[in-house]
Amino acid sequence: MNRKICIFANETSSSVNTVKKLIRKLDNVGFSVSEKFCEDADLLVVVGGDGTFIEAIHKFNFPKMPIIGINTGHLGFFQEIMPDRLDDFIFNYTNDRYSVQTLSTVRIHIKADGKEFSHTGLNEVVITGASSYSVHLNISIGDRFIERFSGDGLLISTPAGSTAYNYSLGGSIVDPRLNVLQVTPIAPMNTTAYRSFTSSILLPSDLSLGAVPDVSARPSGIRIVYDGYSCEYDNVEEMTVSFSDIKVHLMRFESYDFWRKVKSKFL
Ligand code: NAP
Repeated sequence: MNRKICIFANETSSSVNTVKKLIRKLDNVGFSVSEKFCEDADLLVVVGGDGTFIEAIHKFNFPKMPIIGINTGHLGFFQEIMPDRLDDFIFNYTNDRYSVQTLSTVRIHIKADGKEFSHTGLNEVVITGASSYSVHLNISIGDRFIERFSGDGLLISTPAGSTAYNYSLGGSIVDPRLNVLQVTPIAPMNTTAYRSFTSSILLPSDLSLGAVPDVSARPSGIRIVYDGYSCEYDNVEEMTVSFSDIKVHLMRFESYDFWRKVKSKFL
């Protein structure tokens, strides 16, 4: 069986040991294994935690092949296999006993200073003020104006990202079979001066969220954070957040169950 497998790992001793064992075992069954990324690989193996998984996705520009995660990190929502189950993984993979879970990504499109930019996140995109200023944003859903939001910012998460930063902010955990974007406010202001929604809202896959900085507020830059990667823009005219066309394909085995994972990680 001549399948080509790439491995990406973080540098913890547990990952380094796991990669050594994995390479030996994959070599033994005749797979071609590389620690360098190649576009035409049949499988990408990511050894680490969810943070390493996110890093691999961005480093390799949202690879198209299926990805399997081996969890040597803390949480491991994306990671399917524990390091002591490498033989099970190889048996199931060689015998085609797996399914592929397709995860949606979220995209923010920004118009600033007469130019256009976009960023994609697997977990989320976050809109905040630069330099810790509060943000004042006119928010629309579809083409309908909804509110003037004031606060630290807004986080827009995918279902896969709902268990990450979104959850820490009080957002809901979303079953990945539901194709919804969740908009969660970050420290919304609710005073006689400002009125902002205080709970998360869910958007169907065909609606986008528009955000236009309020020109009557103190001018300041906008910070965008996508999966932990941050950049700042001045003179932002408008931002649009929607599902992206880019998908991430995760290999899952028979034992995978989202809610069992939630229970084991959070409860
Ligand atoms: P990081 O240190 O790489 O990750 C922070 C924590 O988030 C780690 O424990 C990581 O799990 C976990 N995580 C990542 N994706 C997850 C998911 N889909 N479901 C559940 N937990 C997940 O932090 P970073 O490099 O700044 O940003 C990467 C991600 O971390 C972001 O996309 C964001 O969602 C999350 N984050 C969370 C908070 C918060 O909860 N207050 C703050 C900043 C960022 P592992 O231990 O397995 O790597």
